[in-house]
This record gives sequence, structure tokens and C-alpha cells, in this order.
Amino acid sequence: MLINKDSLSIYVHIPFCVRKCLYCDFLSFNCDKRAIDDYFVALLTEVKEKSADFRNLQVKSIFFGGGTPSYVDAEHICDTLKCTRENFNVADDAEISIECNPASAIYDKLQAYREAGINRISIGAQSLNDEELARIGRAHNADMFRETFENARRAGFDNINVDIMSALPGQSMDSYMETLSKVVNLNPEHISAYSLIVEEGTPFYDMELDFPDEEEDRRMYHETKRFLSEHGYHRYEISNYSRDGYECYHNKVYWKRGNYLGLGLGASSMVDNIRWKNTEEFNEYLSHESNKKELHSLTKSECMEEFMFLGLRLTSGVCCSDFKAEFGQDIDEVYGKIIEKYIAEGLLIKDGDNLFLSDEGMDVSNTVMADFLLD
Ligand code: SF4
Repeated sequence: MLINKDSLSIYVHIPFCVRKCLYCDFLSFNCDKRAIDDYFVALLTEVKEKSADFRNLQVKSIFFGGGTPSYVDAEHICDTLKCTRENFNVADDAEISIECNPASAIYDKLQAYREAGINRISIGAQSLNDEELARIGRAHNADMFRETFENARRAGFDNINVDIMSALPGQSMDSYMETLSKVVNLNPEHISAYSLIVEEGTPFYDMELDFPDEEEDRRMYHETKRFLSEHGYHRYEISNYSRDGYECYHNKVYWKRGNYLGLGLGASSMVDNIRWKNTEEFNEYLSHESNKKELHSLTKSECMEEFMFLGLRLTSGVCCSDFKAEFGQDIDEVYGKIIEKYIAEGLLIKDGDNLFLSDEGMDVSNTVMADFLLD
């Protein structure tokens, strides 16, 4: 997929959740109804204000993420989408996604999303084992997930992603595979399978927990690929799998360094190699004081680094002629030695114009990618 630099993707951050999961380090919290209403007033103001700078770009995808977008009244989401359409140049066939959690995504909301034109839904299942879900502090159980999935189909969604997690405390290989198998039986178009990473500052960081060891974690990762490819899902990114034709356009924009505009609290943007981030202070956001902080124009070296380590996340890898077109230099001139080294070690593969990580390379992707940092 070619990402057109004359297009734009929009991310809308909804920072509210029913309660905080024990492993969560996303910008999210619980709030009363009044604060949520105030947030959407500020968000619509931001949509209108920012649109003036981007009318020349066609919007190819919109993603409502969080937090839990399905936690708030559907009206808020539908009004935000309507306002975005009125103010930006949104393509008729734009991919419009929303993240939902089973505890809050009731049928009426799903139906309202569909009617408003949202055409992709991402459901945070994480596990279909109730004990594992309780241990990580999720607000739903496996039955609630199944009901949400069925309701999404009934509401007309024919592009559904399910998020699952491995390496959870107390999780065995068998219970992980049971989750994977039950998810596949529902036949979603897309599956994201991430391994839990315990971040500093989360409750999990200070807890004594029984996590699968590194070897077990690796086995889960390998089994995910094997099992999903046997069931017709191809891996197109380190942790993302899809049926043919259902790769997520929006996420590929991030990995291919297309233009994206983040709206809402703490949302990040990158347009024409300039990065900025909205304030993370709720009251500051509500007062519209500072929605364009930390403006940073990326240097050529930073752009090259990102081109490599984001592009190598994709199984299709990076395209050498795209590198030359973007930076005016051959990829070998900049990275020749590193590329040669990893090809010799069997971690990178060069096939025609494409350079990508082998399966072994994907296993140690962090180490390989770190080598693409320039001094
Ligand atoms: S639902 Fe997601 S964003 Fe909300 S607390 Fe849990 S992990 Fe964090």
C-alpha cells in the first residue's frame, strides 16, 4: 500500500475508562458526566480550529481510540465524526474505526456508530479466560466479549478487530491457545496479538506476579503466528494479523510515516515531518490554552531512522526505492554495513526492492532496529 503524502489520517483520543486496568499506562481515567460533556465541547472546538490548516489534505482514515471511546454516550462520538466530516475533506471510502470495550459497548451504541458511518470496530477482548481478565483488572468477562462481538455483527460491522494479549500473569500456554482458538471461531477479519509489557508507574510494576517466563512468552508468540496462518490470517506486522483485504490502513499510516493529526487530550501528530503533541493536562485542554505543544521538526537523520524502524515492523519491510525517493540517497550509502551484517546473520532478507526482517529477525526486532539509529 502506498501512503500518499497528500493525504491525512486523524486520530481522536477519548481518555475515559470505567476504571483503570492494572497494567495500563495509557492516558485514561474515570470522570463524571459533566467533565465528559465539557471535554467534547473542547474537542469539537479543536476539530474546527485545526481543520483550517489541513483542508488541502484528503482524510483517508479516522480512528477513535483511548481510553475507551465506547464508554461515553454514542451521541458524543457521532457528533465528533459529523463535525470532522463537515470541517475536513474526508474521503467517501475512508476507513473509520472505533475502539470498544465489552463492558460498555451495548448494541444501541454499536448501531449508532454504524449508522454514523463508522465501518471498522476494534474490540478489546485481551483474554477469554475470566480468571485472567480479573487478574489484569479488566471490567468485562468472556461472555460480555462474545455478546459484544455478536452485537457488532448484528449492527452491520463486517470489519472487526479483536485485541488479545499474551504473557499475562498466571496464563499458561493452554489457556492462551484456548483464547486464540475461541477468537478464531468467531471469525473476525483482524486480530492484534500483543505481549503484555509491564510499564513503570502501573500497579503491576510493584506487584509480585506469576508471569510466564521469557521462553514461554516466545512460544506463545510463535504459536500465534503458526495457528493464525493455519486459519487464514496472514501476519503483516509484528503483532497484527488479518484476512486478505483487511489490513488496518490507519495503523499502516503510522508505520509508513504518512501524515496524521491527533485530536484530543495528549494526542500526537506528525505532518510533513513536523511532530507535536497536545497537552496532557485535562483542565488546560478544556480551556483551549495549549493544543499545539512541543513542536519538533524532524531532522533528515531522524526521518531516516524512523523510516527504517517503523517500516521494518511490517512483514513487507521497507522499499529501497522509496528511501531514495524520500531522502535522495541510496539506502546502502547510509545503512549498507548494517544491512550486510544482518543479511549475513539471516535476520534481514533482501528481495528485489524490498528489505524485511526474517522470522528470526522479527524475534529480535528491537535489537536489529536499534542498530538503525544514526549518530
Ligand atoms: S480499557 Fe484500555 S485504556 Fe482503559 S484502563 Fe484498560 S487498558 Fe487502559
